[in-house]
Amino acid sequence: LVGPELFSLSGRTALVTGAGSGIGRRIAIGLAQAGADVACLDRVAAGVAETVSTIEGLGRRAIALTGDVTDPDDLAAATASTETELGDLTVAVNCAGIASATPAEDLDVADWNRTIAVNLTGVFLSCQAEARRMFAHGGGTIVNIASMSGVIANRGLKQAHYNSSKAGVIHLTKSLATEWVDRGVRVNAISPGYTATPMNTRPEMVDQMRVFESETPMQRSASVDEMVGPAVFLASPASSYCTGVDLLVDGGFTCW
Ligand code: NAD
Repeated sequence: LVGPELFSLSGRTALVTGAGSGIGRRIAIGLAQAGADVACLDRVAAGVAETVSTIEGLGRRAIALTGDVTDPDDLAAATASTETELGDLTVAVNCAGIASATPAEDLDVADWNRTIAVNLTGVFLSCQAEARRMFAHGGGTIVNIASMSGVIANRGLKQAHYNSSKAGVIHLTKSLATEWVDRGVRVNAISPGYTATPMNTRPEMVDQMRVFESETPMQRSASVDEMVGPAVFLASPASSYCTGVDLLVDGGFTCW
């Protein structure tokens, strides 16, 4: 394969979780721009409806799925609907996630558990439901959205629960990559740095963002558009020898 074929998702069916907002929405649209039909899952129905209508405007097929990634039944139903309505599932991007900041000594166990449930268990359950389908088609590619917070502890942000959940996603990705390598399923991660999305309009983030940008070698945060290329790369034949990779997309933040 050469040229655009290398990065093409033409004829592929994809599922994106967290597709109703921010990075997940933009990646869902980006997969469609690369040729895929896309099932868009989110807990919030209004968000995915908007993503689906944008994708349909591009001339690709899309469906809106409402569900919670912490519920295996929702994920089984979502992967079944994806295949009934769009085709064999061979690409998945797991983006659903939540963030909050609380000093560790004050963090309620319920908040810890919820963060781990959505960000880590939710990614595991998503991978499991997706891989079960992909095995039946001879393979596929899964991309998990982790975070640079899984590699470094963000200076100035007290979020041990979030950081730990994302470190878990990176190691889960490596573990599943090795476990499923002989089933034809590649599993990779993207670890974004600070990215302009609704997640970063949290009150504790607004003032911090300027500080974070000055601490980033590129001196700015990412736009959601800048997550599309990495996601299409890891989903497409261009990355055929990559599995278990954690691709840091952080403007150089983790270099300093
Ligand atoms: P966002 O809040 O804009 O989008 C997250 C989406 O996930 C929302 O639509 C939300 O409804 C959905 N979601 C949350 N919990 C869910 C659940 N249980 N089931 C189904 N859907 C659920 O946030 P974003 O910034 O686009 O974040 C997307 C991913 O990228 C997250 O995993 C986040 O941790 C990660 N990330 C974000 C940044 C950043 O700076 N924005 C940096 C690194 C990693």
